[in-house]
Amino acid sequence: MFENWEELESNCLKCTKCKLCETRTNLVFGYGNKNSEIMFVGEGPGEREDAMGMPFVGRSGKLLDAMLSEINLSREKNIYICNIVKCRPPQNRDPLPEEQDLCINWLRNQVYIMKPKIIVSVGRISAMKIIDPNIKITKDHGKFYVKKNTVFMPTIHPASLLRNPSQKELVRQDFLNLQQKILEICERTY
Ligand code: SF4
Repeated sequence: MFENWEELESNCLKCTKCKLCETRTNLVFGYGNKNSEIMFVGEGPGEREDAMGMPFVGRSGKLLDAMLSEINLSREKNIYICNIVKCRPPQNRDPLPEEQDLCINWLRNQVYIMKPKIIVSVGRISAMKIIDPNIKITKDHGKFYVKKNTVFMPTIHPASLLRNPSQKELVRQDFLNLQQKILEICERTY
């Protein structure tokens, strides 16, 4: 494990552990306030993210930012956002289990340094990888899980909300649950 962000990021940026390194434009390490108490974890970069080297940009990123701002969260201020895999899977396919397994230690190291109180899994792949492989995102979104003193909450991916706008109300409720949990256990977020 690397003990500081600079060392971790500079080593991660050179990673060639899986084949996704061959097709990436940019590795997407993560973005946001590294001293915050809340980490959001998606599944992996898409086309825009790969082009810009930033997580959750483009239409789904804008929607996520708008919904976060409703509960006074922003990546500029009080959260950090990253992904399970740091390089884009071609054609935006789901990251393969072996790619997730090879990449997950970068995320573990991010969590080790940041020590978030709450981790929000954005989407099915992230929830199944870091919370519970049996999670059903349509049923279990917005629920809290506690593992090793960290609170986890899965929520629906904003790309899914763009396809099914009626799900926005479900995510709004997830985020209200999250806001309540932040008020209960976080000291520096609001
Ligand atoms: S996806 Fe992860 S494991 Fe694969 S090359 Fe990128 S950083 Fe390394």
